[in-house]
Amino acid sequence: MHEMALMESLVDVLAKEAKKHNIQQVKKVKLIVGQLSHALPDALQFAFSVLRQYPPFSSEAELEIEERETRGRCQSCSAEFAVEDNYLFICPQCGGLAVDIVQGRELQIDYFEGD
Ligand SMILES: [Zn+2]
Repeated sequence: MHEMALMESLVDVLAKEAKKHNIQQVKKVKLIVGQLSHALPDALQFAFSVLRQYPPFSSEAELEIEERETRGRCQSCSAEFAVEDNYLFICPQCGGLAVDIVQGRELQIDYFEGD
């Protein structure tokens, strides 16, 4: 499962950060998950429910997920817009096809808490 591998690498980062801040037990984690990361929140929750049984987590640790839509910016007219279809990047204002992705690729830890 794709999400299990993603979650494991996020937990690696988290474990290092927790150590740095002298946190023994992580109780809450918030993730930012962009649509384009192709990570399903339900599958991430499941992976987390397995991983939280091990340090640095408290066994009741919670995972909060904030999903972010995909947004693009047109290179010709600079319009910014939500991308409905992740495979179709067309500027709704001028029809331009040169579109930069400005949001949606995120898969990161926003913050975590513990003691
Ligand atoms: Zn445009």
